[in-house]
Amino acid sequence: MTATHVPGLPVIEDGHLISTNPASGAEAGRVPVADEKAVIAAVERAREAALWWQSLGWDGRKTRLLRWRTLLVERIQELAELAELESGKPVNDGIIEVTAAVEHLDWAAKNAKRVLGPRRMRTRLLLAEHVGHLEYQPYGVVGVIGPWNYPIVTPIGPISGALAAGNAVVFKPSEYTPVVGQWLADTFAEIVPEHPVLQAVHGLGDVGGALCRSGVQKVSFTGSTATGKKVMAACAENLVPVVIEAGGKDALIVDADADVAAAAEAAVWGSMTNAGQTCIGIERVYAVESVYDKFVDAVVEKAGKLRTGQEIGPITMPKQLDIIRDHIEDALAKGGRAVLGGAGAVQAPYVSPTVLVDVPAHSSEMREETFGPTLTITKVRDADEAVQKANDSPYGLGGAVFGKKDAIRIARRLRSGMVAVNGTLTFVGMGNLPFGGVGESGFGRIHGEDGLREFARAKAITVRRARSLLPAMTFERTPAQVQQIVKALRLLYGRKP
Ligand code: NDP
Repeated sequence: MTATHVPGLPVIEDGHLISTNPASGAEAGRVPVADEKAVIAAVERAREAALWWQSLGWDGRKTRLLRWRTLLVERIQELAELAELESGKPVNDGIIEVTAAVEHLDWAAKNAKRVLGPRRMRTRLLLAEHVGHLEYQPYGVVGVIGPWNYPIVTPIGPISGALAAGNAVVFKPSEYTPVVGQWLADTFAEIVPEHPVLQAVHGLGDVGGALCRSGVQKVSFTGSTATGKKVMAACAENLVPVVIEAGGKDALIVDADADVAAAAEAAVWGSMTNAGQTCIGIERVYAVESVYDKFVDAVVEKAGKLRTGQEIGPITMPKQLDIIRDHIEDALAKGGRAVLGGAGAVQAPYVSPTVLVDVPAHSSEMREETFGPTLTITKVRDADEAVQKANDSPYGLGGAVFGKKDAIRIARRLRSGMVAVNGTLTFVGMGNLPFGGVGESGFGRIHGEDGLREFARAKAITVRRARSLLPAMTFERTPAQVQQIVKALRLLYGRKP
């Protein structure tokens, strides 16, 4: 590294992408940059590998995926330390991230056969002589494009679903975290050395674009909404289906009967873990007036204990510091008040915990993804007003509710893909729950049954097992038989419900 390099900013030198720690500038590692030809070659290799991987069958794939899961558990410390070196994420946060990754790998491996495997369908009366079969077949090669903020669990979600379904994967990690991405591909190859079933390709955004156009049969993208739109446009050229896991501006509602101390603790963690660089991070709180003061005090007390350089790591992407500073300044300029941190909170590469109140709804801190350890708290009359304000966002990824009597009812009314009740972010840790957003947060699902089906095509087969009593789908049918069909239809479905 030369002295002119900005810590954390990836650079390309001599055909290699060099990634560095955002706080110290220490080199985390270097990986070869792929050009368009190399991406296409990787996808071609993956196409061959996918056939071999499919030939292993459900059980063969399951065993290998579970071995990879166990490798992650055995080397959890090494992986968390690598993530810290590359992104600045505190090691304990990295360990929790690996924990979620292990859960998804385990669940996908153990459930793929049940969710996607062949099954006989119930016969329908009008085609009683046919049996229906349904199965979900792999696409072939899936492209996975990942972000830097959770470089382990965000790719492992779609990778585990895609691999368990029988696909090979070509993975393009973020340019900020290529070394962690390469580690994932290398350790998978330790378990599955025979064929390149999981490969990583590296570079800047153009390499992600090349992957979309490389002949992959599905793309799973996790990253910002703006890049998600570019990925969709690139995939549209060849009608490649996509999953878009994009940004968020998640809200937490604190109802009148909430355990206020627990809500404050969860709000602080949900907004400030990983220095707030969390797609499902809590960025807005709506607290009903009867608990508002107590809640604000508890949040300030707890968040005030967090130390930059310890629980709060550096901001991984240097240019994000300007966005966080702009949002705080805009909130203060428009009449908001900082009850913790505030103006001057941004001291590169760190941002100290910032809690803002009375922030107008039209300020950038309330409308755009801040991606820093900041939290706004807004006083509301009741839960109805809280829901209306929480839903007033183009995003709709996750969310949270603290309360007792009405908490689940409120959770249902939030316009988002996931909600944690009496917790924050917890839904990301359950392998059997789908994960994904609505609106500008994207569409499609990873994790759980929906996440497995996302990486396979439904295949329907009918098998005749007897002669047709009421032949409909043939030119050989007689007018009398058509009348019989009408009669049967009246008998079966002619009565108004
Ligand atoms: P970006 O959108 O900047 O990048 C995401 C990935 O897309 C990177 O690998 C990037 O490569 C690649 N890319 C960039 N340009 C293109 C292009 N034109 N075509 C194809 N690929 C491209 O997101 P970040 O890495 O900054 O991640 C942070 C964002 O991700 C936040 O908005 C966050 O909310 C969201 N996110 C969403 C999650 C979810 O599950 N919904 C989970 C985690 C994060 P390169 O880095 O080389 O530019």
